[in-house]
Amino acid sequence: MIEIDKVSKHYGSFQVLTDCSTSIRKGEVVVVCGPSGSGKSTLIKCVNALEPFQAGSIRVNGTEVGDPRTNLPKLRSHVGMVFQHFELFPHLSITENLTIAQTKVLGRSKDEATDKGLKLLERVGLKAHAHKYPGQLSGGQQQRVAIARALSMDPIVMLFDEPTSALDPEMVGEVLDVMVELAKEGMTMMCVTHEMGFARKVADRVIFMDAGRIVEDDEKQAFFDSPRSERAQSFLAKIL
Ligand code: ADP
Ligand code: MG
Repeated sequence: MIEIDKVSKHYGSFQVLTDCSTSIRKGEVVVVCGPSGSGKSTLIKCVNALEPFQAGSIRVNGTEVGDPRTNLPKLRSHVGMVFQHFELFPHLSITENLTIAQTKVLGRSKDEATDKGLKLLERVGLKAHAHKYPGQLSGGQQQRVAIARALSMDPIVMLFDEPTSALDPEMVGEVLDVMVELAKEGMTMMCVTHEMGFARKVADRVIFMDAGRIVEDDEKQAFFDSPRSERAQSFLAKIL
């Protein structure tokens, strides 16, 4: 579903990604972890072309992301992205947040989009909040809306960039619960997160990045039981 092949990226003389390769099969859940500044966000943003890269290739379901002929809005409509800071539209109601891309990008009717949006809102446990505005919801609730909004586009993969790291601790669980459900339903997921409980529960593989490189790319059990690199060992020792 996602094929990342020898991707390198630099900002001027600063090399942010070096020779990154991995692939994610349909239905696989891959957790990406590593120290701050190691390139995790940059890599995940390259997958839906929010960041350009200078070398290598990335294909999502066979579509070459870096090809100038690729229709990026179309590609992005199939790739759900959830960020650290929710990024809901503050001036739109929750229902409007859930329907605007469906109507504008996918051309769905307002009724169809609303119906779908409300079903997804119910799925993340927030149906009663449909009429509210983002500012009236807690951080955890806003993040669940952001996940529902991404799902409203019927994505073929979901990318998460530290979806719980801006939340108060008591709200982390409700967001992870939604992600665990998604994983169990077979969604293909690439998740930057340091929630190792989540990784242990649902990840198939764990990728560890350091200084712009993929240092480890292992089955979950192998990663936790015996990380090969000293850098991953010391990273795990700090966060576990
Ligand atoms: P992570 O998500 O692992 O914390 P990032 O992908 O955000 O790491 O950043 C990787 C490195 O690239 C960091 O050193 C960061 O400072 C640098 N970086 C990110 N964006 C830019 C930019 N627009 N210009 C220059 N350097 C950047
Ligand atoms: Mg980041």
